[in-house]
Amino acid sequence: MGFEGLLGNERLKENLRVSVGRGRISHFYLISGPAGSGKGTLARLLAAAILCQGDGKPCLACNACRKVMTGNHPDCITIVDPAHKTVAVDIVRDARADMYVMPNESSRKVYIFPQELRTEGQNALLKILEEPPEYGVFILLSDNPEKLLPTVRSRCTELRLLALPDSLLQTALKQEFPDADGESIAAAVQRSGGWLGQAKALLAEGAVSVQTENFVKSFCARDTLGLTTVLVGMEKWKRDQAIPEWQVWLQMLQSALVCQAGQKATSPLTRQLAAARSSRELMDAVQQLQKVIEYAQGNVSVAAICGYLQWALR
Ligand SMILES: [Zn+2]
Repeated sequence: MGFEGLLGNERLKENLRVSVGRGRISHFYLISGPAGSGKGTLARLLAAAILCQGDGKPCLACNACRKVMTGNHPDCITIVDPAHKTVAVDIVRDARADMYVMPNESSRKVYIFPQELRTEGQNALLKILEEPPEYGVFILLSDNPEKLLPTVRSRCTELRLLALPDSLLQTALKQEFPDADGESIAAAVQRSGGWLGQAKALLAEGAVSVQTENFVKSFCARDTLGLTTVLVGMEKWKRDQAIPEWQVWLQMLQSALVCQAGQKATSPLTRQLAAARSSRELMDAVQQLQKVIEYAQGNVSVAAICGYLQWALR
């Protein structure tokens, strides 16, 4: 299997295949690239390759590989701090202390840091990077490698992810979104900058509920009866069901405005909205939705808001 789970980046994958195959594993890797470039995918594959017990590492078939890929390997530890944007320094210190505990079932122990580290956290890591235990491997992920301390960056093997060519992105998107039309895929490719994760997020805007689809159709056609039917059908919805739905409507209207400003639309519904209604009308609808979402987050009932929207979104 090797590193094929990561799209593109052929030279990087070949270099890794050769070095891992020869058992040349660095103590410290830095995987760099913008959001949606595949850093998490590569980190998991690399960890699997390091702990793999089969041939053609990562084989993705042995017990170790399977455990890494499902997040259940005791010697593959992901260090995250969900409460903060960057990892708190005491969490880094705990990881550092844990690194001196021998691996459980492998000859190595891998730590993945998907979140950015502040200077203090990097300094805490530096001590172990200078003299890592024989079995220790750290994999750091970063959107901004230039912001890392030079002393940290110079110690690591940097794996830089590259943007994917359009043709590769297009094929991958067609596979994952078989229902998306060619125009939407082309727009997502163009707007993604070559990063698969970003292209997928753009296309996902097109995968919407029946309510959203009917809302867009009625709104575009100025079909008040259609709009009423959608909203009456939502009157008994729970607040935590209705609010996300309205947030999707809001996002689509905002996307349609972006589209009118000259960007290509990533979904047929956005395209329809941009063509059917003026900027002024879209803007009004955006404001109305922002207002009702705020009301709904307060104490106004979903039914009352549905009634209001029948009038406000005409
Ligand atoms: Zn394996």
